[in-house]
Amino acid sequence: MFGRHRRTPDYHHRDWVTALRNNRPMFCVDCDAEMKARKATVAKPYRYDLTGLKNIYLAGITVYHCPRCGAEAPSIPRLPELHRVLALNLIGTAEQLTGDEVRFLRKWLGFSGVRFAQLIGISLEHLSRVEHGHKPLGTSSDRLLRVLALTAARRTAFSEVSKLFADRQTRRRIHKPMFELRGRAWQAAA
Ligand SMILES: [Zn+2]
Repeated sequence: MFGRHRRTPDYHHRDWVTALRNNRPMFCVDCDAEMKARKATVAKPYRYDLTGLKNIYLAGITVYHCPRCGAEAPSIPRLPELHRVLALNLIGTAEQLTGDEVRFLRKWLGFSGVRFAQLIGISLEHLSRVEHGHKPLGTSSDRLLRVLALTAARRTAFSEVSKLFADRQTRRRIHKPMFELRGRAWQAAA
């Protein structure tokens, strides 16, 4: 089961979209068995780990499951919007960003490690240690990253940036954040 759903999401996504469009049954790419569809719900969500973020759970999507080998393949609509909601959710947490979260936001912003380290004024070695979880990013760099991500996510604006850290203590990190596709919108589910 493990390893099989770790290919890039695009690879699988194209396959599913093609199969769905042609109204064909889905067959497991590993063992060729016909896959069964289930709806991921808040009670029985899908664990989404392709971004490198841990413990992200999705609801409101279709997940294909192979009854023979156990492989799972989610169909995730509006993926860029989901990643934008994930980024916004991280920006609002009170705790310092973890290494996985720093890497996710950096990649979401489209920066290489070299460019990002240069941008926020730290060494590439330091960034590498941060992203591998050996060191914290540091308060100023952590906040700078959030400001960059917020401006990218909202295409905004001094007024929102200036309020960013005022109520930070009110939103503690959620252990298993859940995101639900409601209609056409991805939302953080409480
Ligand atoms: Zn299979």
